[in-house]
Amino acid sequence: MNSVAKPQIAVIGYGSQGRAHALNLRDSGFDVVVGLRPGGPTEAKAEADGFTVKTPAEAVANADLVAVLTPDMVQKKLYNEVLAPNLKQGACLLFAHGLNVHFGMISPREDLDVVLVAPKGPGALVRREYEIGRGVPCIYAVHQDRSGRAEEFAKTYAGGLGGARANLIKTTFKEETETDLFGEQAVLCGGASALVQAGFETLVEAGYQPEIAYYEVLHELKLIVDLFYEGGITRMLEFVSETAQYGDFVSGPRVINADTKARMKDILTEIQDGTFVQKWVAEYDAGLPNYKRYQQADKDHPIEAVGKQLRAKMQWLQQGAASQAASQQ
Ligand code: NAD
Ligand code: MG
Ligand code: MG
Ligand code: MG
Ligand code: MG
Repeated sequence: MNSVAKPQIAVIGYGSQGRAHALNLRDSGFDVVVGLRPGGPTEAKAEADGFTVKTPAEAVANADLVAVLTPDMVQKKLYNEVLAPNLKQGACLLFAHGLNVHFGMISPREDLDVVLVAPKGPGALVRREYEIGRGVPCIYAVHQDRSGRAEEFAKTYAGGLGGARANLIKTTFKEETETDLFGEQAVLCGGASALVQAGFETLVEAGYQPEIAYYEVLHELKLIVDLFYEGGITRMLEFVSETAQYGDFVSGPRVINADTKARMKDILTEIQDGTFVQKWVAEYDAGLPNYKRYQQADKDHPIEAVGKQLRAKMQWLQQGAASQAASQQ
């Protein structure tokens, strides 16, 4: 019988989430082995952090709980070829994002418990907050409960990550998958970066200095987001001038208006009905031609060049960026 209090854990993948999970779980007292492809890009990092690194097949053979923390698009093949044939009878299979299970790309074996623990933050933050005695909130869900203890496994794992110090919320694979995709597309990554680029372009096209445009629409965003994080929009408004507040009230709704919200609803519909995932899988299987083109276009945007020069003048920022990058490797 698997131990729910002290499960043997295998973490497959040692990237953003994998490294943070493995380190936090080990510091919380769990036995953790890391499963990676021999010679893969993160193997040396896991070994340098003191983990026993095995192949994914070997790592899962004795594990009570297996966390699948590889990129979403490789999980189907990994599950079918390596995990399904090697997972212990009755093991608990854990994901940090519900995409593959929710959209039916992975159909887990009947004997397994299948759960989700998704930290609401990037891996570097999951680790950093844990190290200073805090945590990143986690949402958890149960897809399949064969043992009757699936929820307990999820909560034990989320506790080991430090998530319980902040908050744990029960969800479903459907809710986590759809809200996570919507958040990163419409607001966090897609929406925020497009807003910054459009603001920068507007100022520069009107003849203002790119350096000043950079400070205004990108650099200063950090203060605003820190205030959101700490006390919501109310707190941000308390800290900006009356003039800035009035401008917020009358101009914000002209930028993000009913039309923008209609586009957000379209995006959500395409996530819910599987259109987005179908396109993403086709793009991945074709070797990422459009993805690479979009990625290059973002790198080539003029705001990146000016930002690089301006950030180089702030030595403290350079140190911060370097240590963060190191903790994400
Ligand atoms: P990542 O790209 O940072 O790391 C992936 C790791 O898997 C690397 O160690 C890589 O070498 C390894 N890997 C790749 N292919 C493999 C294979 N075939 N077999 C074994 N190992 C392989 O990934 P990530 O961003 O940490 O994402 C992992 C999961 O966590 C995903 O499901 C993602 O949706 C979820 N998630 C990520 C974040 C985030 O902030 N990055 C937040 C919440 C949830
Ligand atoms: Mg997310
Ligand atoms: Mg996501
Ligand atoms: Mg973009
Ligand atoms: Mg200002």
